[in-house]
Amino acid sequence: MALLEIRKDEEAILRKTSKEVKVFDERLKTLAEDMIETMHEAQGVGLAAVQVGRLRRLITVDLYDEMGPKVFVNPELYDMEGQILDYEACLSVTDTQAPVFRPEKLRLKAQDLNGAQIELEAEGLFARVLCHEVDHLNGILFTDKAEDESLMEEDK
Ligand SMILES: [Zn+2]
Repeated sequence: MALLEIRKDEEAILRKTSKEVKVFDERLKTLAEDMIETMHEAQGVGLAAVQVGRLRRLITVDLYDEMGPKVFVNPELYDMEGQILDYEACLSVTDTQAPVFRPEKLRLKAQDLNGAQIELEAEGLFARVLCHEVDHLNGILFTDKAEDESLMEEDK
């Protein structure tokens, strides 16, 4: 296991589109393990491979609940329902928090580290983190989608 360097802010790689994973080998497993370690060290709830400089469609998520850390390869989101506005931050965006609309609920289709199909339903924070990380795979940062902070006032 090794800590990886998290790419930040204006680094050009963050704007690139990640490529489909086709080979499910030991290197992929090592990358996933290193990403989980890096995510935990940075106290993040999600990390996309591009954030550690690898343009592969691979994300890790950990909501620090009973489910433990999760790895999703080639994730795809569909059947989005509802909208929730909440604050988001990113390990690749220094000192910024802003409100972003995300679906309340969605379905995820992905593969595990052995290439087996995974399908699940996610809602709330889990759905939010999945949207955020899949956006990374397409070169999108949450700041691209952020709403004006004054929109959050009505919740107070
Ligand atoms: Zn992020």
